[in-house]
Amino acid sequence: MSVLTDLIYGGSNAVAGLTEGAVNDAIAKYGADRKIVFPDTAYYFPTIYAATGVKVTTLGDLPACVGVLKSLISNKEDLGEALNAGLATAVGAEILEALKYVEGGDPYAKETGIGFVPDPIIRSLGVPLVTGDIPGVAVVLGKAAEASQVADVVKDYQSKGIMTFMIGDCIEQAAEQGVKMGLELRVVPLGHDVTSVIHVVTVAIRAALIFGNVQPGDLQGLLAYTKERVPAFVNTFGELNNVVVSAGAGAIALGFPVIVDVDLGENQVPGALESVTDHSMTVKHSLELRNIKIKVKELPIPVAFASAFEGEIIRKADMQVEFWSAKNTTCELVTMRELDQVEDHKITVVGPDIDSGETEYALATYIEVAGPKMQKDFEAVIERKIHAWFNYMEGVMHTGQRNQFRIRISKDAYEKGLRMKHFAEVLYVMIMDEFDAVVDKCQVTMVTDPVEAKRILDEEAMPAYNARDERLASMTDESVDHFYTCTLCQSFAPAHCCVVTPERLGLCGAVSWLDAKATKELNDAGPSQPISKEGCTDPIKGYYPDVDRMVNEASHGALEHVSLYSIMEDPMTSCGCFECICGIEPVSNGVVIVNREFAGMTPTGMTFGELASMTGGGVQTPGFMGHGRHFISSKKFMYAEGGVERIVWMPKELKDDVATKLNATAKELYGIDNFTDMIGDETICEDAESLLAFLQEKNHPVLGMDPLM
Ligand code: SF4
Ligand code: ZN
Repeated sequence: MSVLTDLIYGGSNAVAGLTEGAVNDAIAKYGADRKIVFPDTAYYFPTIYAATGVKVTTLGDLPACVGVLKSLISNKEDLGEALNAGLATAVGAEILEALKYVEGGDPYAKETGIGFVPDPIIRSLGVPLVTGDIPGVAVVLGKAAEASQVADVVKDYQSKGIMTFMIGDCIEQAAEQGVKMGLELRVVPLGHDVTSVIHVVTVAIRAALIFGNVQPGDLQGLLAYTKERVPAFVNTFGELNNVVVSAGAGAIALGFPVIVDVDLGENQVPGALESVTDHSMTVKHSLELRNIKIKVKELPIPVAFASAFEGEIIRKADMQVEFWSAKNTTCELVTMRELDQVEDHKITVVGPDIDSGETEYALATYIEVAGPKMQKDFEAVIERKIHAWFNYMEGVMHTGQRNQFRIRISKDAYEKGLRMKHFAEVLYVMIMDEFDAVVDKCQVTMVTDPVEAKRILDEEAMPAYNARDERLASMTDESVDHFYTCTLCQSFAPAHCCVVTPERLGLCGAVSWLDAKATKELNDAGPSQPISKEGCTDPIKGYYPDVDRMVNEASHGALEHVSLYSIMEDPMTSCGCFECICGIEPVSNGVVIVNREFAGMTPTGMTFGELASMTGGGVQTPGFMGHGRHFISSKKFMYAEGGVERIVWMPKELKDDVATKLNATAKELYGIDNFTDMIGDETICEDAESLLAFLQEKNHPVLGMDPLM
């Protein structure tokens, strides 16, 4: 037998033995009826569920799974067979990791790793993955000979926006070398046992179930999805043992190449298992194997610039200076000018720079752009990106927008030499990079002088914001000529297509009608294409011949009809990355809406994750619909079924967040005051009966409406 297959089978057999023993021990200790679940998932034991369709819920379900696991290990001298044994190792790892959760609580609380990754996090990764903001997923495992070897590789991935999951002692090695970790920083420690690698494997597997509409039990469909659509790869550090090798075989079976830092000589399998002993080549080679291309931006600034730093938090103790609207005048404005009024790449700082000794400053970020194809409507689209671009700078934190924001600059970034002109450079380079189709010239003025900042705020920014708000408010589905498709999510959800209208933004919450319009201008053949409104056949349900035609085309024939305003009849499909899910609540005849961040139970008896699993992957599920937060207060929300009056329950945070606008809509449409006071939340009721009692007490209008079904 070859060394390689020998190692794989050795590892798989060892894991099989361990798993069988652990399952038997657990049953002896807790009994076969003992419930066993991973936290916050609707996909049971995701690997077992996806591969076989079996829903494991109790310890008693596991011996049969161990049987399947063993049947995958043929011990035959054949690489394909050996890769199956690698899948057996994945199944074993899943069971061993699940057993850690048998007592309830968080077995990872005392670890540096996070263990199982809940469904909502996977859904939240959808948009950054499809936009290329996260260009790939790295799995880094083992213990490097020198801590700096692994730290350099991980920092390099971080600077490229790659999401890195870490397993083993390399976690401490990287931390010791100053790698900043956390989900928001795209470096995620999973755990120390090799088996914790399953927690990234199930991310890929659940992506297939959530976004790809892969049916549980369709193993070939699953393997094809992960191979083609999940841009992941594995880097191992240090000596390999047979368990690591057999886990690696499982990764290869899923289509993820494995790059090791020891010399495997003739045991290498080109494209699947390769040695790179020179660590300075690890990143480059790994990306090449997965065909991941990184657009490098040369920015003349003294700190790193990468999307991975977007979530970085700067605490007061680490802060050098702050611009905060609660204390000083602040505003951000992109404004359109004539071509001859803008001097390209002119950068000006008006007022003191941040080294003047103060810790707080006013700030007006004033950007003038010009170009024959520039439109007034695109000002806000560009302006909204300032938030992300400033956050991409390492050591800079930006929250808010317009005249309400807060920027902190860390001591570290200040000491590296970061000053106001660098902020302007970032804006210039990024605008010319992303909006080059409409912006020919751009000049940036950073104003810290309080008097001039106030002048810009009062004379230019506020009137501009007000004009935009008026334009947005007057923009209805009736007032425009075209809607737009968005098919960005097709890289994960191949049959999904959003229809974006002024009153219904994309379900991810990130694409408004104006964004889609700008996308069409920036990329003519891109994901947003205009849909004609001609020949509307049903204005109440929102049926348009061209919507049907475009969606049919975009879904490759999977969909015949889509209504824009009904959740019961041909509802719009979901990819999986929706901000909120709305589902019918049969007892009250209304709907509950849950946002991704809410981990609790709803009166439907289902959590966000469970409701979310009812739809997705580009299929239509009447009664369930993914949507953006802003859609909740739209006059077109469930228009065909009576509109927002159908809403009976939302988590409190969501309800408070949308209250002002939702109440205004309810007042305008139905004359109801303070409508959100009639809507239940988790502090009022968590089951259908107490919800109904609450609705009766409040005389909620849903009680007098026609049945939904
Ligand atoms: Fe994906 Fe729809 Fe958002 Fe486009 S609008 S990114 S298709 S969820
Ligand atoms: Zn999506």
